[in-house]
Amino acid sequence: MFSYRHAFHAGNHADVLKHTMVIAMLRHLTQKDAALVAVDTHAGAGLYRLDGDYAGTSGEAADGVVKLLAALSPAKPAKPAIKEIAPVIQDYLDMVAGFNAPGQLKVYPGSPFIIQRLLREEARDKLKLFELHPTDIKALAGNIAQLKAGRQVAVAREDGFEGLKAFLPPPSRRAFVLIDPSYEIKSDYAKVSTCIQDSLKRFATGTYAVWYPIIPRPEAHDLPRRLKTLANQAGKPWLHATLNIGQAEERNVPGEPGRGQGLTASGMFVVNPPHTLKSALQLALPQLLEVLGRGRGQGQTLESGG
Ligand code: SAM
Repeated sequence: MFSYRHAFHAGNHADVLKHTMVIAMLRHLTQKDAALVAVDTHAGAGLYRLDGDYAGTSGEAADGVVKLLAALSPAKPAKPAIKEIAPVIQDYLDMVAGFNAPGQLKVYPGSPFIIQRLLREEARDKLKLFELHPTDIKALAGNIAQLKAGRQVAVAREDGFEGLKAFLPPPSRRAFVLIDPSYEIKSDYAKVSTCIQDSLKRFATGTYAVWYPIIPRPEAHDLPRRLKTLANQAGKPWLHATLNIGQAEERNVPGEPGRGQGLTASGMFVVNPPHTLKSALQLALPQLLEVLGRGRGQGQTLESGG
């Protein structure tokens, strides 16, 4: 356990999908006056340096946020086929740009910082962050302390699946929960299902967003199916979006090791999605694929129910 460090993957295609959706959902949820409680059960370090050692090792952001920004940059758009950038993608790019000096991309914001930036002080929105990795919890606590957000943000070195329970139902009866484990251990898949089942019992109207990797493993394949069943049994609407960037062509340079394909696909399953999310993604997902798609196997899906 704990060999996973999100810093190696920050800004990859999976983060692009996840964070674009998180922003789209919070934009909607922060339109109502009542306070929102946001919980990030698996928070990571919060901020990542894209030019630092970790991200540089595999360069996963190159096939994610870096490619997206380069392709859709208003100065020299590399994808003329995309005439109007989907508003949720623009919102995502603006969010990332907001953590960087103009024209630079050195810092990538993780979900805690993206969520915090969208919360409202005047509405007394709150953010609860859970992280277990001994190094990442220190980095997260340090990064959050610099925000001087006071009581708006709380960081805990606790199991996020367990810690979440104490916040449901929230006094304001409004909650957004991001469940984004590393799935390093097989049991995470079952824990996610149990967590959704338990959370819907505690607070049936919260918005619950689960990220998962699409990999050839039965547990990963079963997870969205199980989540659909749970949402349907609870009589709650759901949305399921996937993005598969496909296999890169092998770029074998003599004398250099081949570049690993890494993770090629991931999904987000949302219970009680904001009603605006589906149409926003109908526009955005084809554009994400147009820019990030690498070849064989690429595709995107969007389905909803309930
Ligand atoms: N949500 C982050 C983002 O989007 O920026 C990325 C999170 S990363 C995929 C998953 C994190 O969960 C890792 O930092 C890992 O150390 C942490 N973790 C693993 N098991 C955990 C648990 N039971 N409770 C809380 N955090 C955990």
